[in-house]
Amino acid sequence: MAILAQTTNFVARTQATLEKAHRYQEKYNIFVTIDDEGAIQKAQELEQKAQAGAKLGQLAGVIYAAKDNFLCPGSDTTASAKILTDFKSPVTSTVIEKLNAEDAILIGKTNLDAFAHGSSTENSYFGPTKNSKDLERVAGGSSGGSAVAVALEIVDFALGTDTGGSIRQPASFNGVYGLKPTYGANSRYGVVAMASSTDCIGFFTQTAQDLDLLMQITSGQDPKDLTTLPDFYRHDDGFNDPIKRIGIIKEFDNDAVDPEIRQAMAQEIETLKNQGHEIIELDMPTLKYALATYYIIVPAEIASNLARHDGIRYGFRSADSEDLMSLYQNTRNEGFMSENKRRIMIGNYVLSSGYYDAYYLKAAKARTMIIEEYNQAFKQCDFILTPVSPNPAFKLGEKVNDPVAMYLEDVMSVPLNLAGLPGLTVPVGKTTAGLDLGLQFIGPRRSDAKLINFVANIKEKN
Ligand code: GLN
Repeated sequence: MAILAQTTNFVARTQATLEKAHRYQEKYNIFVTIDDEGAIQKAQELEQKAQAGAKLGQLAGVIYAAKDNFLCPGSDTTASAKILTDFKSPVTSTVIEKLNAEDAILIGKTNLDAFAHGSSTENSYFGPTKNSKDLERVAGGSSGGSAVAVALEIVDFALGTDTGGSIRQPASFNGVYGLKPTYGANSRYGVVAMASSTDCIGFFTQTAQDLDLLMQITSGQDPKDLTTLPDFYRHDDGFNDPIKRIGIIKEFDNDAVDPEIRQAMAQEIETLKNQGHEIIELDMPTLKYALATYYIIVPAEIASNLARHDGIRYGFRSADSEDLMSLYQNTRNEGFMSENKRRIMIGNYVLSSGYYDAYYLKAAKARTMIIEEYNQAFKQCDFILTPVSPNPAFKLGEKVNDPVAMYLEDVMSVPLNLAGLPGLTVPVGKTTAGLDLGLQFIGPRRSDAKLINFVANIKEKN
């Protein structure tokens, strides 16, 4: 398990990494682009800097990949959607800028469900990414490529986005750590928007300690994203307070959850008890509305955010159009995946006059109740432990034609996005078939530093 630290032999290490990335690409379909030229150039610059005796950044030579919904010039940013193919971004996302300023080396952009809509990376225009432990199974999603790139140890860490589980679920399916920070912790500037009120920028790593370093570097207020929180990530503020009480949600322990995941939960609870933690049973009856609430609010925001893709401003434009209206229609029809279209239609429906009150407004109220339920829960406990999803990695093709089955994947991951809370996937072992199992710890808003520290400590003791 690598802990992120400055490396040496920048060019040789980058070359070896690129070679490995290309080799695995054929088998797993991890990347949308591998930027050989850009990565080597950065490595050469670092080598020159080092030779000149200049001070190197905290991540000098650390190699990473970014989900292909992070904008950066140098390669296309497609969000794995046809409608963005050939789109060259004029801007760099704030998070990538901060990582590059610390001399990390970006080697490529990873595959995702188009526009991050999905839980398996099968909704990608470039085809699915394969699971790191079983080529017949999904990588999880939507940040499947980033999860697999870290699981196969191609890169030291990877960037992802989590709107409703897209970091935590693929992390769990591939045996790596995955952090979805508090909403507003990391700038969303320069990241293709899915649902602006729940989108979060986070990481896949091989250790919890790595998350700590990355959050120190990337979080904080950004004038380009007015939802960012000032002075966010600190080690003071009760950072080392003893964490005693871990909440378990009763409603999540039921027959719909895979027996091996229930067993992993039971084992983790034992470990926590042995380490002196108190387990608190929580009643959270409102959470059963979270999935329905999410699948109203998120499509509504998607419909608004995707309205800008008209064939005029970005990337792909349909060739056979006679007038402006058919250009819009054909571009959007050919450029979006079915899942994108489904969400645009649901979103416009729930926002339309006559249905707004019945759906969107009701969902907004339910969201407030969910936030309140978490507030009450965190009066009784410090962190909450739950499964990430009801099952381990499923077979390719198993759910992709059944949207409701795919949405049900998200039943345990979306509630905290609605409340803006941090969640951290921790790998806890394997199924008898050798698939990875992860569980998630959830904290109150702004508890990210404590949450990461807590997880690092329990893993060290284990
Ligand atoms: N699987 C969820 C969805 O399809 C979450 C996606 C995400 O977090 N980007 O909406």
